[in-house]
Formats: sequence, structure tokens, C-alpha cells
Amino acid sequence: MTRTIFPQIDPPQRLLMGPGPSNTYPRILRAMAADMLGQFDPEMTSYMNETMALYRDVFMTDNQWTLLINGTARAAIEAALVSLCEPENKVLIINNGRFGLLLSEISERIGAKTIMLDYSWGEVASLKEIEQAIIQHKPHVFACVHGDTSTTTAQPLEGVGEICRRYNVYSYVDATATLGAMPIDTDRWGIDIVSASLQKSMGGPPGCGLITISDRAAEFIFSRAHTELGLQEGSQERSQRSRIGSNYFDLAMIMNYWSEKRLNHHTEATSMLYAAREAACIILEEGLENCFKRHRLATKAISEGARAMGLALFGNDETRMYNVTGIYIPNHIDGEQIRAEMRNLFEIEIGSAFGPLKGKIWRIGTMGHNARPHKVFHTLMAFETVLRRAGLEIIPGKAIDAAFAVYEGNQ
Ligand SMILES: *Cc1c(COP(=O)(O)O)cnc(C)c1O
Repeated sequence: MTRTIFPQIDPPQRLLMGPGPSNTYPRILRAMAADMLGQFDPEMTSYMNETMALYRDVFMTDNQWTLLINGTARAAIEAALVSLCEPENKVLIINNGRFGLLLSEISERIGAKTIMLDYSWGEVASLKEIEQAIIQHKPHVFACVHGDTSTTTAQPLEGVGEICRRYNVYSYVDATATLGAMPIDTDRWGIDIVSASLQKSMGGPPGCGLITISDRAAEFIFSRAHTELGLQEGSQERSQRSRIGSNYFDLAMIMNYWSEKRLNHHTEATSMLYAAREAACIILEEGLENCFKRHRLATKAISEGARAMGLALFGNDETRMYNVTGIYIPNHIDGEQIRAEMRNLFEIEIGSAFGPLKGKIWRIGTMGHNARPHKVFHTLMAFETVLRRAGLEIIPGKAIDAAFAVYEGNQ
């Protein structure tokens, strides 16, 4: 038998300017190299409590139940929906991008009845349209994506939670792409469950879901709780409600693990907990407002740089996300060739697109640790160079000048 031996892993130092993942803060990588602890070690459980407190600030909420889901962003989405929805429940979903479709895909597998509020990619729903759809369909859950990287567009959420509560509907928002880049005003918006992840504007690695759950939603979820042995502790009868359709993503069990009861569920992913704790520390030390501003400026600089090269942007300025820009691929330019040159010549990754936008736009992200001037300048200089090599007539230096103007406050 021959044995294959691989060398130690040594990836190239790419600059990840796509729609996520982004480069991880070195401080987070160092935190992840720290020693393991036992699952119920008092140091470990105190890190868990600190992480809950930190993410209450990041999610701008007083929700007690603010914790981690071991898995990627999608795991947190699935935990929210499977814990909130019983089979046959109606779920109203805004369908205006790739991740709205994911919400419907997950809801359908749970056996919920999905009702789609359809828009073209890049459009958003108005508050009035959301309210009318809620009145018409009387859903159990309203679900939408805040910033959808597939469309570079953010759904306004002001007032949405209030409407949902008025009609006794639970609300869920996927803020995976926007947490850390744009305000996620959980309590003021009145959203019951918001979830996110580390690998976009939190500047951490993929593999950690973040979630915050209102008391009202937690009460409902606990009313569906059964222990693995059958009855919920202390309950006389089995709950009238159906049991949550997943063990791993059962938020009642996960909340019990994150409570002072520390009921055993999974083994918390120790290194990810360190990463999540560090990511929140970094962002809160910088200050949320400063962090949002840093993202907004970086995206504005990319946008103005692209415009200065004569390129058109996808989407509307009013609903544009703070951390990803959609740029139309000009006629006669091979979008994939440009991406390959960015990677091969400059070690810079930029994104392609999905669905109706496939082959039509590039997506340039300015997320987390990458949302800062020198990375924006590197990206624009490289982008201008590869576009010129592909035959586009651009006056050299235009893009970078436009980006400088943004940072110098002239735009
Ligand atoms: C990236 C992204 C996801 C998926 O995240 P994973 O960590 O890959 O599961 C979900 N929703 C939105 C809005 C995203 O941008």
C-alpha cells in the first residue's frame, strides 16, 4: 500500500474582495489557536456568558437568548425556522434574491406552507405591501433577508416587527451578510429572531452561526420542548404542540444548554466560540457606528471608482448594502476572464453572480477586516489594470482618484 503524504497546508495570501468569506482578522486567528477547555469547565461557561453579552450589543438587543449555533449561517437559519414552524404553518417570505429562495427551501422541508411575496432581484418590499400580505395570508411566521449578497440590496426593516406583532405573527430576519456592516437594530425593529454569521462583515471564519431570540419567540419555542427522554422537565403532560423537527437545531435544547441549567446538547465548538467572542470584542472596541462608517465608505469608494471607469452599478443607491457592490460586466468583456486575471495576477478574489444576474454582474465585497482604504485601493488599481488589458478604454488613474475623493470627503 502506498501512503499519500501531503505537505503542511500553505494557502496563498489572497485578498478576498468577493461577497464572503472575507479575510479573517489576525486577532481572531490567534484566538482560535488557544487551548481547548472542557465543555462544562467554569472558564468555558463564563466565555459562553461573555459571548452572549457581547452579541446583545452587536445585535442591539436586550434579548437574553443571544447565542451561537455551531454550523454556518445556514445552520442558524434552519434552527430559527424549524423551531418556529410546525408542519402546515404558513410562512410568508419576501422573494427578491437567492437567500429568500433559501428561506422557502428550508420552510418547505419543514412541511410549512410557504407564501412568496415576489419581487425582481434588486427590488425591496414596502411596509404597506408587507402589511397587506400579512392581513391577506395570516401567516404564523414572516421571514426575509436583510442584505442579500446575491442582489447587493438591503430590505428596509423599520416598522416590520411592529406590524408582525400587531397581527400576532413571529418575525425572522437573515442578517448574515450585514451584521457588522449595517445597523441591525433588533429591538427597535422588533424582530423576533435575527441570525447571522462570522465570515462576512464580522471578519471571522465561516462555520459559526449567530442568533438572537426574543422572549416572546423563546416562550413559543419552549412550548414545543421535549427532552430527549420524552417529557419536558417538570411538565405534567406532553406539550400540545408538535415536537421541533430537528434534534441538532432544536433551539429549546440549545437555549437550555446556554442557560445556567447547562443541559447537555452538542459540544460547543470551542475554537469557534473563541473566534466569535474575539470578533465581537474587535467590533465593539472600534464602535459599531465607526465600523458601519468604515464599511459604507469602502463600498462608496468602490462604487465611485467603478463609475469613474465608465462602469454601471446594479441596484438602487437608496437600498444598496454597505459592504458589496454589483457592477455590470460591459459588453464584449468576459467576466470570468477578468476574475481569473484578478486572482492570477493580483491574488485578489472578486465575485460572480447567481440566477438572473449570472454572467451579468461582478460583485465586489468590502467586508470586515477588508473594508479599509488600502484594500479598496489595491482592488481598484488591479481591476482597472485587468479591464484595460481586456481592451476597455479607461484613462489610467481615474478609478483610484475617485476612491481618494470619497475618502477625502470630496464626494
Ligand atoms: C452568505 C449568506 C448565507 C449563507 O451563509 P453560510 O455561512 O454559507 O451558510 C445566508 N444568507 C445570506 C444573506 C448570506 O449572505
